[in-house]
Amino acid sequence: MGVKRLALLLVLVFCTWVLHERSSHRRHGPRGIVIHHTASPGKLHGELVSASMIDEWHTRRGFHKEYNGKVYHIGYHYVIRIDGVIERGRPEGCRGAHATKGNDCLGICLVGNFTRRARGLTFPSRPTPQQMAALHHLLEVLVDRYRFRSAQIHTHREVDGDTACPGDRFPIAQVRKWVKDLDGNRRLASIFGRSSRH
Ligand SMILES: [Zn+2]
Repeated sequence: MGVKRLALLLVLVFCTWVLHERSSHRRHGPRGIVIHHTASPGKLHGELVSASMIDEWHTRRGFHKEYNGKVYHIGYHYVIRIDGVIERGRPEGCRGAHATKGNDCLGICLVGNFTRRARGLTFPSRPTPQQMAALHHLLEVLVDRYRFRSAQIHTHREVDGDTACPGDRFPIAQVRKWVKDLDGNRRLASIFGRSSRH
């Protein structure tokens, strides 16, 4: 075999390997994101509803999962408190326990009850501005990490059907628009990044 043919073959092998790695990253990552609300007030007994409180609730519901030698009860991967603080639930690599047909997705739960008929009974009845800002930031990180498209962002109701979660006041259209813009910006940045190196 000539040197040129060998070089061509090596380039082909390398390209195949790169393509395989990229597609396997997508295959093995989460299928998307499922958004929830806690259907609870923002505070209980004067305390902010938090990931550790939800961990206790889910302990009673038997959602535990062992991952890398540690047991997690909380079914969500992230919780966003009413003050906009993002708390970790179970690790991203650990299968979720938050939606019967969506546990292969990351679960993000915003504290509150965003169902119209619950208005006045609980607080907040819409996500707080701090929660929305935090969600935007979290999506920025996750879209960059997993290359999610807007069609991969679901509400719990969309995947399971038999729930109102995260309520009819949750602005899913706005969130999908964010993801569409984030994905577009990421693509532009990658093109710009490539051309600027030449
Ligand atoms: Zn839910």
